[in-house]
Amino acid sequence: MPLPSGVTALHWFRNDLRLDDNPALKRASESGAMLAIFIDETDGTLRPRGGAQGWFLHHALARLGESLREKGSDMIILRGESRVLVPRVAAAIGAGLVTWNRRYGAAEREIDAGIKADLKAQDISAESYNGHLLYEPMEIRSQAGGPMRVFTPFWRACRAKRPVEAPLSPPETLPPLPAFPDLPGRVTLDDLGLLPTKPDWAGGLRETWEPGEAGARKRLLTFLTDGLKGYAEDRNRPDLPSTSMLSPHLAMGDISVRRIWQVTEQALQAGETRGSANDVEKFFSELGWREFAHHLLYHYPTLASVNYQPKFNAFPWDTNAKALSAWQKGLTGYPIVDAGMRQLWQTGFMHNRVRMIVASFLIKHLLIDWREGEKWFWDTLCDADPANNPASWQWVAGSGADAAPYFRIFNPITQGEKFDPDGNFVRAYIPEIAKLPAKMIHRPWEAPGPVLIRAGIRLGETYPRPIVSHEDARERALEAFKSLPAAASHAE
Ligand SMILES: Cc1cc2nc3c(=O)[nH]c(=O)nc-3n(C[C@H](O)[C@H](O)[C@H](O)COP(=O)(O)OP(=O)(O)OC[C@H]3O[C@@H](n4cnc5c(N)ncnc54)[C@H](O)[C@@H]3O)c2cc1C
Repeated sequence: MPLPSGVTALHWFRNDLRLDDNPALKRASESGAMLAIFIDETDGTLRPRGGAQGWFLHHALARLGESLREKGSDMIILRGESRVLVPRVAAAIGAGLVTWNRRYGAAEREIDAGIKADLKAQDISAESYNGHLLYEPMEIRSQAGGPMRVFTPFWRACRAKRPVEAPLSPPETLPPLPAFPDLPGRVTLDDLGLLPTKPDWAGGLRETWEPGEAGARKRLLTFLTDGLKGYAEDRNRPDLPSTSMLSPHLAMGDISVRRIWQVTEQALQAGETRGSANDVEKFFSELGWREFAHHLLYHYPTLASVNYQPKFNAFPWDTNAKALSAWQKGLTGYPIVDAGMRQLWQTGFMHNRVRMIVASFLIKHLLIDWREGEKWFWDTLCDADPANNPASWQWVAGSGADAAPYFRIFNPITQGEKFDPDGNFVRAYIPEIAKLPAKMIHRPWEAPGPVLIRAGIRLGETYPRPIVSHEDARERALEAFKSLPAAASHAE
């Protein structure tokens, strides 16, 4: 419905930090005057943001502010309870309309519903849009009308529902800012304190990422030109640049998933990518896993804290602080695990195959509760995502929906040899064993003495011996699993 002229709109940016394909922003931009805000939300029910994502957010906000100013608008940053601030700011600027793009966590939905009600009580319209997903969780249902629990039929149902919608172009111009008084909770970007100072651990992040719309777009185009060819197979190889690394941008919303879909399809049709139709289909199905994770989060809001399959509530977890710390620091003595954990610490990212290996190692070799790993990833990943992170941890643990069976225990040695055959991924992150020949690099403890000496390694001193033996750990994990009750039911 067109807006009556003269209406002032308030657009609330959350995880949609872009101008392109932003339906809520586009709607607000049709008004006579518009103010955009971002809120560092302090509502107690929200999960505090992790450190690495905070770094990414700072830069994404800075770029977004620049883009808005180039178009004659601006974004005001506030800190406080959104439940209080949004209605107050809307009233202070005399807004007739407030817009935002929807989010799917339970606490977020409750806050948004409360704000909508408060705005309605003040006679202000609130409109929300889908800016984050291809298919929203409420659109897709099982034949019985409930949530879906298995990925393949879920993705088939999505694809059968309707084609992916075309992305919207960015607004060509933005309406002028309304006159606004001192706003409650107003702060500067620096006041948010999102950048690390003492110590500054963000060097590797700066080298790896360019937050913001331009960086996201570049990442997509590079992937289509260089990475997509062979993706269906090579996406499992952490030593090759074969995945898109778009996940932090998707989490922050500085690119939309609809735009990624459209540009990829067009590149395939125009022959502008060396990737095959099969590679594209595989890439799309990974985006489908993201959709599935959001579907699960929406229907099982406690995904990050409660086993989806209750039988795992009886799992005999070990609380081994020393082992947890060795895992976090990349000092387990298993090179593929340690390289992954160090990649995470240095760059705020880890390759998907390696995420599966390190998660399996924590849960099954060390018998440490998957929630410990989920928390560590939440704090250290730039792409930390309230849906993908817990859904993936529960997938590896075997406690999730459509999860890998618990008894599938990754062997960190053969996984390393298969997916990092020359050891180049390990060499990039564990310089202390970089001089080992490829056939020893995933099993340094088996290297003969002279080989270790030539490589400058003193096992147990310069690089640890394995903190557990793979065979013993495997037996222990299977025993622990056998102790669980047989019924495999799911959470309702
Ligand atoms: C233990 C564990 C924890 C994880 N935590 C997160 C997380 O916090 N945030 C996150 O975005 N992903 C998470 N993943 C999923 C996956 O590892 C990353 O999305 C992927 O590695 C990102 O790299 P990419 O962008 O190069 O992926 P690509 O292979 O290029 O895939 C494209 C996009 O598809 C989505 N995607 C790919 N694989 C998955 C998957 N298995 N589940 C859901 N979405 C997927 C991502 O948005 C990704 O950017 C986790 C996986 C595991 C095993």
